[in-house]
Amino acid sequence: MLDPAKPSVVEMPKVVCSGDKESPHPRVFLAITDQGFVDCPYCGQHFVLTKGNPSDAPH
Ligand SMILES: [Zn+2]
Repeated sequence: MLDPAKPSVVEMPKVVCSGDKESPHPRVFLAITDQGFVDCPYCGQHFVLTKGNPSDAPH
């Protein structure tokens, strides 16, 4: 089981999910909504689009 308390933070608004080693599922492509997140319909994994790129932050 994936831990719903630990969302996957991604940098692109499109993600692919195929579950995990213990509970794989068919590969699906998910588009993050305007709200900035999407949940996988198969495993419920929560994907969050990161706000900007930390490595680009001004020093
Ligand atoms: Zn999934």
